Amino acid sequence: MRNLLGPDERYGKITDINLGELWEKGIRGLILDLDNTIVPWGEDTPKEEVIEFVERAKEKGYKLALISNAQPHRVEKCGKILGISGIGYAKKPLPFSLKKAQKNLLRLPPSQVAIIGDQIFTDILGGNLLGFYTVLVEPITKRDFIGTKLFRLLEQVLRLR
Ligand SMILES: [Mg+2]
Repeated sequence: MRNLLGPDERYGKITDINLGELWEKGIRGLILDLDNTIVPWGEDTPKEEVIEFVERAKEKGYKLALISNAQPHRVEKCGKILGISGIGYAKKPLPFSLKKAQKNLLRLPPSQVAIIGDQIFTDILGGNLLGFYTVLVEPITKRDFIGTKLFRLLEQVLRLR
């Protein structure tokens, strides 16, 4: 059985991701996590390099969606800047919102979708459960939602393997 907590790929940060390689693997849609993946935790404005990354992805032909467990107004604000739609209060790793993003926002089969996020127990687990390609990035900041801290400890153990 596939290791549900293991990402297919890891990168230091989202802007390091090789969009050409992902495309060659058949990936056509990207689901992006918000906090600590495209913005520092709790912020709504992505840095210029992230905006450029999203532009490059769009130019290449990728479809994009934002998905976050954070409040919908934050997802909306960030999505407006990047020009992509998203879903808040997603309750990752539960499959409902991820499935909705894949089917309704990206309109692609699961095998053509990659999820990019900084947390094993939400982004990677959720993506693996639905058969997405999973990409783990290092969190932008050490700051986190308090409930995330225990998971971070477990993640450190998993990342060492
Ligand atoms: Mg995150």
